Order: sequence, then structure tokens, then C-alpha cells
Amino acid sequence: MRLRILSGLGLLAAAASLTGCDSQPSTVKMADTKVDAAAKLKAAKVAKAQFAAKVKANELGQIPVLMFHRIIDKPSTTDDRTPQQFRADLERLAREGYVPITATEMVTGKIDIPAGKHPVVLTFDDSSPSQLTLNEVGVPAPNTAVAILKDVAAKNPGFRPKATFYVTRDMFGKTVREEQAETLGWLKENGFDIGNHTRDHINLRGRSHKEVEEQIGSIAKQINSLTGINPTTIALPYGNAPTQREWAMHGGKEYNHQGAFLAGYTPAASPFSKAFDPVAIPRIKVMEKKGDCKQFCSEAWLDWLKSNPDMRYTSDGDVTTVAYPKFKTPYLRKTFVKWGLPY
Ligand SMILES: [Zn+2]
Repeated sequence: MRLRILSGLGLLAAAASLTGCDSQPSTVKMADTKVDAAAKLKAAKVAKAQFAAKVKANELGQIPVLMFHRIIDKPSTTDDRTPQQFRADLERLAREGYVPITATEMVTGKIDIPAGKHPVVLTFDDSSPSQLTLNEVGVPAPNTAVAILKDVAAKNPGFRPKATFYVTRDMFGKTVREEQAETLGWLKENGFDIGNHTRDHINLRGRSHKEVEEQIGSIAKQINSLTGINPTTIALPYGNAPTQREWAMHGGKEYNHQGAFLAGYTPAASPFSKAFDPVAIPRIKVMEKKGDCKQFCSEAWLDWLKSNPDMRYTSDGDVTTVAYPKFKTPYLRKTFVKWGLPY
């Protein structure tokens, strides 16, 4: 064995020279290791890009955020769905390769779904008992939104039972604090997302800054005291923003949102795209193609996304990258350049 020169080469070189019985000086060896590592990294990235191309990944594509209200047998408004309709809504999503993610996962860019699949955000407004009612041992009542979602998920492997519930003081019909804590706690324990929908469900348009902060802050405080959760997002009642959109995003110590959702009328931009505007994220009303819903509700948009697959968000299955056709590069948001995987 040759003489080892102890210099400031660091641990890597020392380790390399300790194991090396060949004639290469340790400096060359370290350089080789570095080159090898870099080459390996590059090869891995090429393989990832090839895979992304194969599954037609487009993580700058659009995401449908669906807006549900009550799930009841006898709908009284077009916002309501029957349990049968709701089940069919979910079954269509499963059939067409959608996987539910939460609003929080969307706005924070943690879209962890398999390659080739499309994210969908299921949102429920107004915290009605038809969305979640638990029996005395904590099992959701049949035909509530949560029970149906869990059932469809169980029958369709890979279809995650994930959703976001936008809560008002209605608290799923619970008036006793302990019961409110049980219900919201159940959502938290079972991986559901809780969002802010203002305390009294008021139209925030034209209200004073103080009133806006009071409406959003008081329910945020209550949700936090019941669950320890600080909601990440808000759904603006009637989709109406206050005079300054920022008022709904940040308010004192009470709330600090990363997304504000509207009530219409298009699919949303990917959070990785420059087209994404966190203070005004559109949602889609769930409804067949009729009347006012001929063009801008869920059936119409899901049909459109199906026939325009290049417009739709398709995952590459890797949560640490943002994969997209190279041509779309100008649309990648600066914050995500490090994650970028163009192909
Ligand atoms: Zn509402």
C-alpha cells in the first residue's frame, strides 16, 4: 500500500484511501466519486423524466375543486345532492382516474398520488349534519357524506377518503361543546381537513376590516380550541371576497391562511403554476348539465377535462418533483423551480 498523505481532503477522501489498495491517489479517487455521484443523479433524473413522459405527467395542469353542500334525500336547492347522486359523483371520479386530495394538500403543493392519476379536491361547506353525524361509538351514520366517501374509497382501491370541511358555527348540528369536540376531533383523527367558512356565514363583501377579522377569527379560535388545528384555508361564503382579499388570508394571531376558495365556476390552476392565485381559487358546483349548469358545473367540466386531457393535472407519482412538458416551463412558479422536472 502506498503512503497515505494526510491533508485537508476531508472524510470522504480519507475513507476512500483507507479502502483503496489500488494505485490511484486519493484526490483522483474523490473526484471520481463525485463524478460518479453526479452522473448517477443525472441518470436518475433522466429516468424520472422519461417515466414522467411515459405517464403523460402534467403537474402544471388544472385541478377540479368540487363544492358540495348538504347530502340529503329530498334536495331543496340545487346545492344539495342526494346520497345516490353523491355516490355516483364519487364513482365517476374513481372511474376516470381521480384521487381526492385535501385543500391543504393542494395549496401547500403536497400532491402525493400515483403516477398517471389526477387530483380532485372534495370540499363541503356549512358543516351540516348530513355531512357527518357519528353514533355513540364514533361510526359515521349511513348516507352521510363521510360514510359514502369511505364506502366508495373501500370499493375503489387507491381512491383516498380525503375531503375538506368548511366549518361555521353550525358545527355539524352540535351545540354542546363536548359533542363539537367529538365531531371535529373525529375528522382530524381520520385524516380529514378542516377549513374556515366564517362564524355566521356572512357575505364579507363591503364589511369593515374589523368585522371581517371578527367573523373569521372567532371561528378559527373555536376550531383551534376544539381540535388544536389552525385551518390552512378558507372558503368565502357565497364566494365573495372582502374589500381587500388579504383580510381573509391573515388576521392577527387568529388566522393565517394559504388559500381562499371561491364559489365558481372553473377548474383551478395547479399550485405549481404561475396561473395559481392563492387568494382566489375557483371551485365547481356539483351538478348535471342543465339549466344554469349547462356549462360551468361539475358534469360539464369533468366532460371537458376528459376530452381535453392535456389541460388536466396528471401526476408523475413523485411528490418531490413537478413534472411537465418542457414547453410549459415559462409557467412554472419560481418557488418550485428546484422541484421542476421538465421532459
Ligand atoms: Zn356556505
